[in-house]
Amino acid sequence: MNAAIYPGSFDPMTLGHLDIIKRASKMFDELTVSVLDNKAKNALFSVEERVSILREATRNLPNVTVDSFNGLLIDYARQKNVHISVRGLRAITDFEYELQTAQTNRMLSGGELDTVFLTTSLEYAYLSSSSVKEIAAFNGDISQCVPDFVARLVYDKFSKMRTE
Ligand code: ADP
Repeated sequence: MNAAIYPGSFDPMTLGHLDIIKRASKMFDELTVSVLDNKAKNALFSVEERVSILREATRNLPNVTVDSFNGLLIDYARQKNVHISVRGLRAITDFEYELQTAQTNRMLSGGELDTVFLTTSLEYAYLSSSSVKEIAAFNGDISQCVPDFVARLVYDKFSKMRTE
């Protein structure tokens, strides 16, 4: 069985993430998209909310499952008996960090966990979760960045935050 994990913060999932998920799901028999529960990052959505967004967005992809994890990716991958991590590369700015992470994971796992990089589709190259949040915080248009149901959730979050 050819399985892979696509780990990330997905706060929130964008069309760029979804593009990587769809393409990776054609390359592997099983793809687990897993939300990293990183307490250090000040997230807009809870881990449960991010998981539920990803589940909704991938419900037509039968070989994709959504999960969450905390701690080291190599421990999570070992526990799931998966040896490939998928990551997306947008621009050269992603490269240095991604290369370092991939090499660290390979070293820490004793060569058991390799990383496969998919380059972004050009129409999503500019997209990031942080820019989606920045635009939405000022009520800007994020309809080109995330699926419609995600856009509604993002606007709801910000309007709740404004009234709190
Ligand atoms: P991180 O895991 O670094 O907190 P994200 O959750 O935003 O970041 O992203 C998870 C993965 O998806 C990373 O490999 C990132 O490079 C990739 N990614 C993010 N946005 C895009 C995009 N627009 N196109 C392709 N890949 C992307």
